[in-house]
Amino acid sequence: MKRKVVVFCGPPGAGKGTQARNFAQARGYRHLATGDLMRSERESGSPLGRRFDQYMRAGKLVPDDLVFDLVSQELELAGEDGLVFDGFPRTAAQAEQLDIILRETGRAIGRVVWLEVPTQELVRRLSGRRVCVNCGQVYHVDYTPPPASGLCKNCGQGPIVQRKDDEPDIIRNRVASYDLQTRPLLDYYKARDLVNLVDGVGSTETVSERVATAVVTA
Ligand code: ADP
Ligand code: AMP
Repeated sequence: MKRKVVVFCGPPGAGKGTQARNFAQARGYRHLATGDLMRSERESGSPLGRRFDQYMRAGKLVPDDLVFDLVSQELELAGEDGLVFDGFPRTAAQAEQLDIILRETGRAIGRVVWLEVPTQELVRRLSGRRVCVNCGQVYHVDYTPPPASGLCKNCGQGPIVQRKDDEPDIIRNRVASYDLQTRPLLDYYKARDLVNLVDGVGSTETVSERVATAVVTA
């Protein structure tokens, strides 16, 4: 049987990437982060990457049809692997489409981990976030500063930079998109008894322990 699917949701800066990456590594699941995939496509300079960039730089969600194409491609590569979705789904249409694709491929969502962090802390996290362009490893200037050498601790390369969309005006747009388009999914998944609300405040390790406790069976 194909292994299960865990979805990480929550507002921008809640720690989805940090936690989803740790969780996937610990369980041997495939980490599928739509934001990371879009940034790689953008770095490649392809026409599709330019279309993504147009929305990402403004802090708006990329249109659903482009996101579906990206996710479908990745699922074809996934084989029997367990999957950790990070930053997908983000709209009602994406959630419905995910259900359809999963059913067609003989999978099911095992758990939705919904990370909760107060807005003030989100802004602090996003404005201090730094990422490795090469591998996507996430740092924070105060909490988990990048190595002084400038070389990423995960891949030994770099550069480690601030994301273009982690500037105050864009952060505001992203939080607004979340409130309007993504937060409603909480009820969609709660109605199916799939959600674990996880307190995202505390050290990364403490939050990882909460996540591991929430997702015992998936
Ligand atoms: P998301 O994927 O939800 O946008 P990230 O995982 O990229 O969030 O985390 C956003 C920022 O907050 C990063 O700089 C990351 O290092 C930092 N961060 C993540 N988890 C914690 C935590 N538990 N405590 C403090 N900072 C955190
Ligand atoms: P993230 O890395 O998850 O913070 O995503 C960064 C940006 O990529 C978002 O602000 C959106 O512009 C775009 N993006 C990532 N995932 C999605 C998605 N599932 N649907 C629409 N846009 C997305």
